[in-house]
Amino acid sequence: MERTPLVAGNWKMFKTRGEAAEFCSALIALVDDLDEIDLALCPPFTALDLVAERIGDSGVGVWGQNVHDATEGAFTGEISCRMLIDAGATGVLLGHSERRALFGETDEALARKLTASLAHGLEPVLCIGESEAERDGGATESRLATQLQGALTGLTGSQVLQVTLAYEPVWAIGTGRSATPEIAQETHAFIRGAIAKSHGEECAAAIRILYGGSVKPDNAASLLAQPDVDGALVGGASLDAQGFAAIARAAIAGS
Ligand code: PEP
Repeated sequence: MERTPLVAGNWKMFKTRGEAAEFCSALIALVDDLDEIDLALCPPFTALDLVAERIGDSGVGVWGQNVHDATEGAFTGEISCRMLIDAGATGVLLGHSERRALFGETDEALARKLTASLAHGLEPVLCIGESEAERDGGATESRLATQLQGALTGLTGSQVLQVTLAYEPVWAIGTGRSATPEIAQETHAFIRGAIAKSHGEECAAAIRILYGGSVKPDNAASLLAQPDVDGALVGGASLDAQGFAAIARAAIAGS
């Protein structure tokens, strides 16, 4: 099955509105001619509207980095699906390992956030990944299976088809130590197999699974060349427009 490659940049808590505007001006010129790939950016909430205005029209998706499952309410510091959409977002990252580790995000909360995102028409991107100790201890597959089951169990196959998965081994995020293409392929194949068991072969064949963890212009092509790697979620290297565009081009070369 043909799956269009997708490269998304997660800016985390970086870039003011001015810095985001500069990035957008630079990026447009660099990716203008790319049509074999989907691109998306996850700016901080304060720059969502600006990024959507500057590059949303050129087909670059704009995603939030988190969302609350409630429609509205007394949840200081949180943001709702309607607010993300109002600011121009079309998707949202859910369950990034930093949110799981630093902000106590659970699989149960993620299940609620997935349901809310889908109900509002926001494309959810569910991040999963094992720690270094889990990989070393042979617990990678059970960890990933638990995360998938915990977040996706209540969803139908047609709902899961609207989700993008991002496999992000915690030991590779921000460390400069990317997974090898072989490890990425083996793990993505496991994830696709788990989706086939839980939600059917058709769903598993169509769902996009991104790899994230120290993706750079020089390793993107070999990672994206793997048959089950459908794109990349890029942190640090997405802060620079040249680097992000270079990863997009490498991804096309590898896909
Ligand atoms: C991320 O934060 O999702 C990520 C993959 O970061 P980095 O590319 O910097 O490892």
